[in-house]
Amino acid sequence: HRRIIMTSRPKAEPTPDNFRLEEGPVPKAGAGEILVRTKYLSLDPYMRGRMSDAASYAAPVEVGGLMQGELVGEVVSSDNEKFKVGEHIAGHLGWQSHAVSNGKGLRKLDAGQPLAPSLGVLGMPGMTAYTGLLEIGQPKAGETVLVAAASGAVGQLVGQIAKLKGARAVGIAGGPEKCRYVVEELGFDACIDHKAPGMAEHLKEACPKGVDVYFENVGGPVFEAVFPLFNFFARMPVCGLISQYNMTELPAGPNKVPQLFRAVLTKRLTIRGFIVWDFAAREADFRRDMAAWVKSGEIKHREHIVDGLENAPSAFIGLLRGENFGKTVVRVAPD
Ligand code: NDP
Repeated sequence: HRRIIMTSRPKAEPTPDNFRLEEGPVPKAGAGEILVRTKYLSLDPYMRGRMSDAASYAAPVEVGGLMQGELVGEVVSSDNEKFKVGEHIAGHLGWQSHAVSNGKGLRKLDAGQPLAPSLGVLGMPGMTAYTGLLEIGQPKAGETVLVAAASGAVGQLVGQIAKLKGARAVGIAGGPEKCRYVVEELGFDACIDHKAPGMAEHLKEACPKGVDVYFENVGGPVFEAVFPLFNFFARMPVCGLISQYNMTELPAGPNKVPQLFRAVLTKRLTIRGFIVWDFAAREADFRRDMAAWVKSGEIKHREHIVDGLENAPSAFIGLLRGENFGKTVVRVAPD
């Protein structure tokens, strides 16, 4: 039994010494419980928030406690009539090779369902893209939808759903390889490299009719370049602000709040933050639509697979730096 413990809270960017690999005997399932062997562990930017004790919508990980996260795994022993040995489940059971659960909150996977995508396109990031874009963004045919972190777990889906709704999809991603993938493989109309000089100009050229929906994943300089491009009645689902997660102090420079609110007023912008489970009522719709789109090939998806639970900390640190290319998962045991 291997587990990753948080040994200290990161001050800015997490470092390897914030984590420790602990080994011990495999736990046993008790009465009414099941034992799960982890196959894939999901790594997600929100975990940076759980490592901090700042007030948030979810309780932090305790120092000395197991890192939290969702995994897919196989039931290897069961004293619970709802779960049979050999079935696969997804659940929030933490960064560990084996987990004991009473079954509460677990989602059963269909037999033969691919495992890693169950944590991405067919899991929480998929639901985030689907609900944030459709409920708040509400893209219409002919409109321009812009999304940041466009090759990532959520962003890659946002642009493709926008295209399915008849909108023009423009991405923002870090580096030429990611941008090429977003356009050539995922079918976005354009993708701008936020690491190359002239991002603001390039964005303007890629959005000649302005921006009707901006799906915000990053904040910071990317948002500042997008903000002047908003059309009247534009919508901005605020999904994440990853450029700020490791931030320790406010950036220097002029206070742009007055300009922002002037634009909100005069352009009648809708800026709305959300957490995926705000839209739990749409889960059945998401599962139906996304499964159909993946099956038909209308939605493509890419996973960034890292081997070995011991590599979860470095993969997580890399995720916050943009070193992932697609939905980040750790392969803990072979499929
Ligand atoms: P991704 O797979 O997109 O990985 C994160 C990506 O963010 C990196 O690959 C990198 O891409 C980009 N990035 C990192 N730092 C910066 C920066 N300073 N400026 C611009 N881009 C940066 O992660 P997810 O798809 O899982 O998550 C995307 C966002 O959605 C996150 O902010 C996350 O917190 C949020 N989220 C919110 C949910 C909710 O319920 N509200 C649920 C799920 C996710 P690149 O190389 O292209 O720059």
